[in-house]
Amino acid sequence: QAKKDGRNLVRFFNPAMQAQISARTALEADLHQALVRNEFVLHYQPQVDSAGQTLGMEALVRWQHPLRGLVAPMQFIPVAETSGLILPLGRWILDAACRQLVAWSQTPATAHWHLSVNVSARQFHQPDFVAQVEQALQQSGARTGLLKLELTESQLVDDVENVILKMQALKAMGVCMSLDDFGTGYSSLSILKRLPLDQLKIDQSFVREMLTSPKDTGIVRAIINVGQSVGLQVIAEGVETEDQRAALIALGCTHFQGYLFGKPQAL
Ligand code: C2E
Ligand code: MG
Ligand code: MG
Ligand code: MG
Repeated sequence: QAKKDGRNLVRFFNPAMQAQISARTALEADLHQALVRNEFVLHYQPQVDSAGQTLGMEALVRWQHPLRGLVAPMQFIPVAETSGLILPLGRWILDAACRQLVAWSQTPATAHWHLSVNVSARQFHQPDFVAQVEQALQQSGARTGLLKLELTESQLVDDVENVILKMQALKAMGVCMSLDDFGTGYSSLSILKRLPLDQLKIDQSFVREMLTSPKDTGIVRAIINVGQSVGLQVIAEGVETEDQRAALIALGCTHFQGYLFGKPQAL
């Protein structure tokens, strides 16, 4: 029995796990320094209409690490979420995004561009999130109607009543709301009925397979139909080829984002 327990202990404290824990602690400390040193940058990816006209951009954060180079958000956003660092980082992202909107507003060719900003669950569920957005808009002087917040299904299913109130407050300010990665979460269609959304984003996993898998084609068609039926703009993400674009247009999709139109880039 003791031997068995011993083995279990070994399983809980093996060197690989210990290394993982220290790596995580180091990453957390590193992330904190990154904020202080201003190492985060926003990249921007165009969102276009069916004529190929740019209507706006999505801001995608990266970490310009002094040694590791450009670090992708999936490498640090989850850790920033659990450590709480997403709160100051999220504020920085909102402020930087609003400053960019103001910069675009100075040039006629870009003055109408909107900017979509990803908001993490923890960030959105802060009691003063609405006030933070309002402050970012006011301090920058950005036009409220040009800011679009991207939320995912999973962050909207808990405490729905409160989520609705928050989204209504944001809508009342003029901020637009988009549901990101649609179709990959666990929420029901009633979320589309109850939440004050403006846009649905078809998850890129469906777009990727839509030309080779009839099921994915069907799902894409269904998302476009259900979105449009409840009055939402539908945008496809991860569009990489002309054939995908043509197939999406044939299904009635009106807005597009993906490498075909431009990769996320620093400005
Ligand atoms: P997302 O919001 O769904 O963003 C779309 C991801 O797909 C981005 O990855 C983008 O670079 C990538 N992408 C765009 N077009 C294509 C394409 O044609 N093909 C393929 N294969 N990929 C494409 P990225 O920048 O690595 O971001 C990953 C995720 O990290 C985002 O997913 C979002 O959930 C999160 N994220 C990014 N920036 C932020 C941020 O500022 N705040 C928060 N909270 N999360 C962010
Ligand atoms: Mg997004
Ligand atoms: Mg997405
Ligand atoms: Mg995604």
